Amino acid sequence: MTPVRPYWSPAETLAADEQAARRLAGVRELLDWLMQKSPFYGARLRAAGVDPRAIGSLRDFAEAVPLTTKQDLRDAMAEFGSALPHLCVPREQVVLAGPSAGTSGRQTYQAFTAEDVATNVEISARLFWCCGLRPGDVFHLLVTPFTPAAQIFRLAAARIGVKWIIQDDHEPGHVPRYVDVAGSLEPTFLQAGVATLRAMAAHARAGTGTRRLGAYRSAILMGAALGAEARRDFREQLGIDVFTLSGQGSDFNLFSTQCEAHDGEHWHADDLTLVELIDPATGRPAAEGTLGELVITDFYRRASPHLRWRTEDMYSLHTGPCACGRSTRRFTLHDRLANRVPVAGRSVYPFQVEECLSRSRDGRNLEFSLIRRSTETPELDLRLLKPPTLADGQADKLAHSISTHLSHELGLPVSARFQDKLPYVGYKTVRVIDEN
Ligand SMILES: [Zn+2]
Repeated sequence: MTPVRPYWSPAETLAADEQAARRLAGVRELLDWLMQKSPFYGARLRAAGVDPRAIGSLRDFAEAVPLTTKQDLRDAMAEFGSALPHLCVPREQVVLAGPSAGTSGRQTYQAFTAEDVATNVEISARLFWCCGLRPGDVFHLLVTPFTPAAQIFRLAAARIGVKWIIQDDHEPGHVPRYVDVAGSLEPTFLQAGVATLRAMAAHARAGTGTRRLGAYRSAILMGAALGAEARRDFREQLGIDVFTLSGQGSDFNLFSTQCEAHDGEHWHADDLTLVELIDPATGRPAAEGTLGELVITDFYRRASPHLRWRTEDMYSLHTGPCACGRSTRRFTLHDRLANRVPVAGRSVYPFQVEECLSRSRDGRNLEFSLIRRSTETPELDLRLLKPPTLADGQADKLAHSISTHLSHELGLPVSARFQDKLPYVGYKTVRVIDEN
């Protein structure tokens, strides 16, 4: 008998004050490290008058240490004439580096020492274990090949004892191959984008009329919000238990995921990183119970650590203990600040549309994009991806019923219509399309 192992690491059940003590020790060590090793952060810390010896609490840290933005890094790239101005170790100590997704502005990079990789693999192993990946699984891993995540996820799955890993790229055009592999090799556990699993399900249904998709029992889904009802549909219609993942691949390779309680996503690195929620307008801590911008200090890292890095993602913190017993904090990602769409005197975000669609029988698990114009519009312009099984004659009627449902739920006029295609960035459907 294999002993039952409810968590991957004892660090996931530490008492809150022990977690906080580790974070304080970690950020103080990082400040010393950056003062010595980082031209980029060292100059910023000296300019702000930071004295690491005067940091006696996490509150002191937040008050003394300036926030960092991606633009600060891009400016430093130009100033230092280097793609890695935040590199704190000699180049020969770097074992892994990779580009961000680069969806806006100049490409940035992150780097890892061997020890950084080992710790990140450990964090990722906690994540996989939390989502139910186990040694007997055949793991179908769809991941953008050039990212550090591609190597780290593979190592982490192997660390928890998974032997057979079917690794593939992650491209909307390759969905037919993924479906074929699912049916032929029968992997039991999938990691893919929300849009990808939806496309795989639609492809399988259009091809063979089947509601099942290979032998998957579970999946980690990433890249977009997923409504609770949409998640239940995956279980009832495809027999797949899904766990959402969100986070910070391009700069950190750090992610949060749901556990079996599905009550927010655990931040698996609570003892190895400092996560803050701030009011994006003032930079001060977000008031308790309100949304805040996620700010990360990955103090475990030595090659390219980040100091109070603004992610531009809005999160809420879940309070109270989780039924799974982990003490790591839980968050829900709401949206990127840049995804705000002004409509009829209000702000609409894609995660709200996902939640409302999820509550509608007709709209559940449909991929969508919102159209944003240079000036505010009186109604929300919503484009839905037409499922291949939907007859042309039915599309207008269905779009009308979805518009009515969403108008009622969002409290503003909505005009929905189906399109045969929606634009992608990487494996993700573009949720907000700017049109003039
Ligand atoms: Zn939990």
